[in-house]
Amino acid sequence: MTDKDAKAHRQLYAKIPRFKCIEGCTDCCGPVPWSSFELAAAGLTAPPPERADKQCQFALKGGCEIHERRPLMCRLFGTVEDLRCPHGRGPLQLLSVDEGHAIVRRYKRIAVS
Ligand code: SF4
Ligand code: SF4
Repeated sequence: MTDKDAKAHRQLYAKIPRFKCIEGCTDCCGPVPWSSFELAAAGLTAPPPERADKQCQFALKGGCEIHERRPLMCRLFGTVEDLRCPHGRGPLQLLSVDEGHAIVRRYKRIAVS
């Protein structure tokens, strides 16, 4: 994990609008892609195995256990026109599908660098 990785991830995360989820909700949590930077930030060496209930191991009753260190796809959910929260939560202005795809393309480039 280098400073360059951290900066590239920070810059990408900053493009994603923030919003408030329902307290304790993890309904959209499941298997997500992890970059090597994100794995290291979460103290992992490999993506977490799916639990028997098909949820992510960090999904606890109070919400995401690693909220501030969650991967990009977790941050993107609920913020893009074609990735809406099933409970209607989200930022005032959703990202367009093109903007969402551009973020994912950039993520794929930095995730493997
Ligand atoms: S985006 Fe919606 S479904 Fe996902 S955790 Fe937030 S409130 Fe729950
Ligand atoms: S890392 Fe957190 S936000 Fe992402 S799927 Fe797991 S519990 Fe949900």
